[in-house]
Amino acid sequence: MTHFFQWTLYLTVCLLLLQSVVLRSAEPETEPRPHIKIRGIYGGAPTQLLEQNRTLPELGVNAIFMGSGSLTQDRIQQLKQQGANVFAEFNTMHVTSYLKEHPDAAPIGVDGKICPPPHGWQGICPTHLGYRKYRMDEFRRVLKEYDIDGIWLDYHHSHASWERAEPDMPDTCFCERCLKQFQRDTKTSLPDAPTSQLAQQLLGKQKAVWTQWRCDVFTDWVREFRSIIDETRPQALLGTFHCPWTDTEFEGALKNKLAIDLKAQAKYVDVFSIMPYHARFNHPQDPAWISRQTAWLGKYLGIKGTPGERHKIWPIVQLSDWGETVPVEQVQPVLEHGTRLPATGVMVFRWGSLHPQTDKVEAMIKYYQSIKP
Ligand SMILES: [Zn+2]
Repeated sequence: MTHFFQWTLYLTVCLLLLQSVVLRSAEPETEPRPHIKIRGIYGGAPTQLLEQNRTLPELGVNAIFMGSGSLTQDRIQQLKQQGANVFAEFNTMHVTSYLKEHPDAAPIGVDGKICPPPHGWQGICPTHLGYRKYRMDEFRRVLKEYDIDGIWLDYHHSHASWERAEPDMPDTCFCERCLKQFQRDTKTSLPDAPTSQLAQQLLGKQKAVWTQWRCDVFTDWVREFRSIIDETRPQALLGTFHCPWTDTEFEGALKNKLAIDLKAQAKYVDVFSIMPYHARFNHPQDPAWISRQTAWLGKYLGIKGTPGERHKIWPIVQLSDWGETVPVEQVQPVLEHGTRLPATGVMVFRWGSLHPQTDKVEAMIKYYQSIKP
């Protein structure tokens, strides 16, 4: 009887120990992650919390990303006094209002006609000189006027809708200006034929040259953005919010549809903010998709996340509901995958729609606090 009692006690203890191990492994990660330098919020300052006299250090937040149109000197000073970096988001190819007075800047489709905006996402012809000057002037003004720590390109790609499970990426731009510049830059000549026929040729036997030329046009914008930073605020970082697909997903759409040549842009860009919105992009049950895409990007660009490296990867991860909901239980795993190397910073998308969901906000704060070195 005594023996039996001892065995029962022994087994009970073993079971309890096992249970505590299982429970612990399911608990949120609470280890500091000193490789993560940036714990950010995208979409403006968390004024709702600051008004409750909570400070950014108390929230574990040390970076705010805000639209370049909503910057004010007072706001920047207020955030910097709390030890935060302030980064501006800059709209490059998506200022729709420009088309009202300059309809000739609308992208032209394979049929030679204005290509309607897919799902309402309006792009602009990348060789329109007036539009380019308009954006460059605005970029310069923002950098001159505001004491920001960096500026992030947003929507720097061709006329397309890809921030969703099923993208719509029409082939553009076959306007006369683009076709002329293509021939000049690549030293080729196109026959005197209707646009629809030329488009067929460019997407057929000349596809490789056409694709690379389009990429080079978009990269050249990045070169000019960089040169403006170097002239006006050289210590500021140049970042880009970009499509999270690999080079082979959607049949190589990153280059041959969106005209994003990440390797070429790396010459000018400091920080790559890949946008793995897991819920929005058809991976609602798979937050690990975030770290898989980040790992791919690191490999592709040769970024390891080691101290002193020039290039950095700071993903923007989805916590707010957009199309798909993100349950509160996912806040921890999303941030856990978003802060794995080679990432050295992270930010959450996006304050405007996230802040009313206070349970998720508190879960974010808890995670940010837990990884603070
Ligand atoms: Zn064009």
